[in-house]
Amino acid sequence: MPDIRAGGDDQLEELYREVILDHYRRPRNRGCVDGDGAVAVELQNPTCGDEIRVSARMDEGRIADLRFEGRGCSISMASASLMTEALRGRTPREAIAMSARFKAMLMGETIPEAEVDEMGDLVALSGVARFPVRVKCATLAWNAVLRTLGAGADGD
Ligand code: ZN
Repeated sequence: MPDIRAGGDDQLEELYREVILDHYRRPRNRGCVDGDGAVAVELQNPTCGDEIRVSARMDEGRIADLRFEGRGCSISMASASLMTEALRGRTPREAIAMSARFKAMLMGETIPEAEVDEMGDLVALSGVARFPVRVKCATLAWNAVLRTLGAGADGD
């Protein structure tokens, strides 16, 4: 596996930007989960105009299906797409823990080396930490999914 740090921060930022644009242009798991047991939560981020609706269905204690629809900036939409990929198949406890790690990253905390692998493509959004006004864009879908889990959203 190539060391993506070898080329320096510029190369890493370029890689992150490509991941974000890819998820913005080709969102994963877009749509609506319906049927028995489906739960949906809508949230807005008025400071940017982002709107999102996240729907989920649990099965045997795991997030069996997870989708989103909405519109907004590239950060909010890419974060939603990445979120659905990261949390599908997880238990609520795992999803809440992942959400906490993701939010800590957006607050500028360094991710422990051991957790970088588990964060996967989510680290592409780490640069948002430098733009506090955009943090709400990146957390919108996560706060919505937390509410579908009955976990509520902290702070904002
Ligand atoms: Zn936004």
